[in-house]
Amino acid sequence: MSEKKYKVWLNGKVVRPEEASVSVFTQTAMRGANVYEGIRCYWDADARQLNVWKLDQHIDRLFQSMKIMRMETQFTKDSLKQGALDWARANEFREDVHFRLVVYLGDGGSGGVRAFKADEIDFGAVIFGGPRRHQHALDHGLHVAVSSWRRISDDVMPARVKAGANYQNNRLAAMEARTNGYDDALILNRDGSLAEATGAAVMMVREGQLITPPVTAGILESITRKFVIGLYEKYHNMRVEQRNVDRTELYIADEIFCCGTAEEVTPIVSVDRIAVGSGKPGPITRRLQELLEAAARGKDPAYRKELTPVY
Ligand code: PMP
Repeated sequence: MSEKKYKVWLNGKVVRPEEASVSVFTQTAMRGANVYEGIRCYWDADARQLNVWKLDQHIDRLFQSMKIMRMETQFTKDSLKQGALDWARANEFREDVHFRLVVYLGDGGSGGVRAFKADEIDFGAVIFGGPRRHQHALDHGLHVAVSSWRRISDDVMPARVKAGANYQNNRLAAMEARTNGYDDALILNRDGSLAEATGAAVMMVREGQLITPPVTAGILESITRKFVIGLYEKYHNMRVEQRNVDRTELYIADEIFCCGTAEEVTPIVSVDRIAVGSGKPGPITRRLQELLEAAARGKDPAYRKELTPVY
């Protein structure tokens, strides 16, 4: 990702990337004390417009993460939405971009992990990003392994919170997968059922039925997951089964894909070197890729309200 080339929004001001720094004395630098969102903007070449995809849903989830983490910040939903638009506009993007909107815990003096009240610790927010392409994965799919690491659980480090520190768990799984020659990992929860990939929700098709783990399986409540469930139910006129998924079901599934803001709908073509179906992306995966793309580019009138214009 080339995000370091672009301007950054830092606490209400757009600054040059080399000016965008946060103190070493902050809890975010030391302990990963922050919550964030990863958001995409799609360029509509016909309308010559850049649109933020599902901005409201991302801001709502950010505030849910903050609520769980008891972060009573000075930021309002509107101020952060405006920040995202100001950031994109300042960079004059005329292509698809992906950005992070982070709200972090600043310097809490000697309060350590106990400091959380507004008079004990300050909060900051930052927005940065740039183009993020992954065409090869979209076209050809990923080879993944089931990780030997387990997903963090709700009573330890809630995966529902999109907290920076949570990603040390994903990092362990991703490094293991890469070291062993895979593109990514699927992570099981404490009970041994499927949770998610390192940065995306996971779905599989068995006998024409789309199946995905429930939001209580130790996953982030993915915005794309919810959207794909809606798309499938609307266009295939079938319910998505939200239930626990066993590891061995992955070996006999007809199709598997992961989905997320960054990944969009990315096929998974093998698990633990066992081919998924024919070993090529399947028809339901392809159709959901197309439907998501059409919606995000403003080509499906039903979903135009999910787009916030930047210009
Ligand atoms: N799970 C994890 C662990 C993620 O990091 C992401 C990306 N935010 C997702 C799932 C997908 O979530 P969303 O569709 O909201 O981007």
